[in-house]
Amino acid sequence: MHGAAVVGSGPNGLAAAVTLARAGLPVTVFEASDTIGGGARTGSHVAPGVRHDVCSSIHPMALATGFFREFELAKRIDFVIPDASYAHPLDGGAGQRAAVAYRDLERTAAELGDDGAAYARLYAPLLARLDGVLDLALGGALARWPSDLGAALAFAARALEQGTPAWGMRFRSESAPALLAGVAAHNVGRMPGLAGAGVALVLGALGHSSGWPVPVGGSQAITDALAAELIACGGRIETGRRIRDLGELDGYELRLFDTSPRGLAEIAGEALPQRYRRKLLRFRYGDAAAKVDWVLNGPVPWLDQRVAAAPTVHLGGTRAEIAAAEAAVARGRHADRPYVLLTQPTASDPGRNAPGVHAVSSYTHVPSGSTVDVGAAVTAQVERFAPGFRERVVAVHVTPAAQLARDNLNYIGGDFSAGAVSLPQLLARPVMSPEPWRTPVQGIYLCSSATAPGPGVHGLAGWYAARVALRREFGIESPSLALGAAD
Ligand SMILES: Cc1cc2nc3c(=O)[nH]c(=O)nc-3n(C[C@H](O)[C@H](O)[C@H](O)COP(=O)(O)OP(=O)(O)OC[C@H]3O[C@@H](n4cnc5c(N)ncnc54)[C@H](O)[C@@H]3O)c2cc1C
Repeated sequence: MHGAAVVGSGPNGLAAAVTLARAGLPVTVFEASDTIGGGARTGSHVAPGVRHDVCSSIHPMALATGFFREFELAKRIDFVIPDASYAHPLDGGAGQRAAVAYRDLERTAAELGDDGAAYARLYAPLLARLDGVLDLALGGALARWPSDLGAALAFAARALEQGTPAWGMRFRSESAPALLAGVAAHNVGRMPGLAGAGVALVLGALGHSSGWPVPVGGSQAITDALAAELIACGGRIETGRRIRDLGELDGYELRLFDTSPRGLAEIAGEALPQRYRRKLLRFRYGDAAAKVDWVLNGPVPWLDQRVAAAPTVHLGGTRAEIAAAEAAVARGRHADRPYVLLTQPTASDPGRNAPGVHAVSSYTHVPSGSTVDVGAAVTAQVERFAPGFRERVVAVHVTPAAQLARDNLNYIGGDFSAGAVSLPQLLARPVMSPEPWRTPVQGIYLCSSATAPGPGVHGLAGWYAARVALRREFGIESPSLALGAAD
């Protein structure tokens, strides 16, 4: 059997490589960086010996979605699944100081007070048909007939409500809208928006069911489990090897690209039909992320102690404030009071670092290509809800968006989704097709988060691309990925 080359070792690249290797193909992965994993790595870039995740930290899709279930990830590495999936501190005064999304929807609703029942009614029908919702959002190309029409209708009605100016109609206070805005803003862009609303519904539903798990040891554990399986199947990985030209992959019958559409267009050049190449080059990139990571000598001193138990914290205040911050970025400005996504895995995974050492990570949204040091603005947002935070900082490391783009070729301008996540680019990611991973050229496939179902550590794009490739190129059905099922 002829060999396969996979360009890029992010979760999608490795998921593709493992699938192909389990089908019996000799597989080589080429990775431009010196380390494997793309957005799923853990390293010591802030202080020697202190482990921080480089990009992703929290994995709502690691236990509940198709590829990792099939791969039996939960049997290969340990996860901690906290009761509190995410928290959202608010300024003091009347009402609660934080809204918390627990796995338990009833408890969440009870603590939300006035709007608790309305919040529960938003999610309950989605939780009742969770498989259908996940299949709709993550089951393949978005432009296809849903497997569970009831789930699709419940989802669409809620996305239309939360993704349009009607988003306030069911709520009377600030807590529930803020809690929703914190998740919706995982998607960079103006609010309200349909894509952000969809993200809030899917990630929120996972938060109220299987939870937002933290891998013990960091995201690197996920990457290492995938790489170990690949190597066990005879696969190879070459690091420090940036592929610039298709000619470098001569001799491989199958070539899968865990790259941006622009990356593939540049590498494959004239080998792609002009029309398709133009589509890849027209794919739009969105605004960016800038990171701020800290080492603390104690936990973050949150005013509301419930926030300490949640590995993910959304900062930025009320929904109106977060929408204003996102609107500023969309206008090409840096928000004075930015939306911040903070992760504090120490409470869930205390063994990751030495006792007393707290590795806290965060990122915020900035205009594409930004070189601005956002350290002060982000720190001020943490201090706002955790006075005394600054005094606990032992080391800090800021990664502007432009640096993020240099560190990962897929993050064009610092867009960590490898392409703006808007409704049009969800329907055509990167082209409108039931098999959007296929290119018009035999043996060439795109498999990154720039393809369906989009960003996140789930490996689904890689898995889907590899399965289509196996079927079309070799007539092979999808292999089992279960532990012990090799050969
Ligand atoms: C700051 C940050 C925080 C995040 N937090 C989370 C989170 O908590 N949970 C979550 O689920 N997701 C999170 N994400 C998103 C997640 O990391 C990505 O969606 C995911 O990693 C995408 O996987 P991928 O395989 O498509 O691409 P990537 O992980 O980006 O990997 C692509 C790989 O391909 C390599 N490559 C590209 N071009 C070439 C080339 N020409 N030759 C060789 N190699 C090449 C790159 O070096 C890279 O290693 C976060 C992202 C960022 C930036």
